[in-house]
Amino acid sequence: MLKLPITEIFSSIQGEGPYVGVRQIFLRLPKCNLICPYCDTETTIPPEFRIETVPGSHQFNVMENPVPIDKLLEVLQIYDFSQHHSLSVTGGEPLLWSNELMVLFPLIKQKGLKIYLETNGTLPEQLLHVLPMVDVISMDIKLPFNGQTFWDVHESFLRYSHQKEVFVKIVVHVETTLNDLREARDLVARVDPSIVTILQPVTTTQGVNTPNPYQLLEWQSLFLQKLINVRVIPQTHIIMGQL
Ligand code: SF4
Repeated sequence: MLKLPITEIFSSIQGEGPYVGVRQIFLRLPKCNLICPYCDTETTIPPEFRIETVPGSHQFNVMENPVPIDKLLEVLQIYDFSQHHSLSVTGGEPLLWSNELMVLFPLIKQKGLKIYLETNGTLPEQLLHVLPMVDVISMDIKLPFNGQTFWDVHESFLRYSHQKEVFVKIVVHVETTLNDLREARDLVARVDPSIVTILQPVTTTQGVNTPNPYQLLEWQSLFLQKLINVRVIPQTHIIMGQL
């Protein structure tokens, strides 16, 4: 049986994007192919992963990494699937584990739980491996940083994702430029102007500061020139003290 390394498993409230407020089981996987300046996630593979025993208790059991997929299915079922909207598969970048997810996802779906994939939107070939089994895709558009741009790979990714339910999330900060936002807006508009697009003000971290109110409204207007459904939503799980 294939094995998968994990960072953590917990049941909590989705804090970002259009599904904010729904209950999900979160499966956080390690490693990422990017190094974003505002990243708040540990991405190395830990020797052990943690599972919150009672949701919200901050009491954890630990298990050794990597875990066989059949054992992982058992672990996830400590939570009542019928009370959860979906399994939120997050990271890191979960598509780095697409071979393992191709085995896990059908088992989850057989148990009646949907798959909600949170991804940085830069691995389109890996997306195709799992796309038939995914129900909702939360795709980041990464604005350029450290001289790197992702426009072409993001556009391919979004075109593939559009076969399923997809929304786009763009993290913005006080130094985000209008030029980059125009590029992002035009990319989404080329694929489908009705794709839900979220501007997410960064939670201030490591010297990256959240935008001011004027900037957020100006940027939403810029997007609304070409897109139909543009929302500004911060990370609400942090306000609530959720994992
Ligand atoms: S894509 Fe996500 S996990 Fe990866 S470095 Fe960027 S913020 Fe961190």
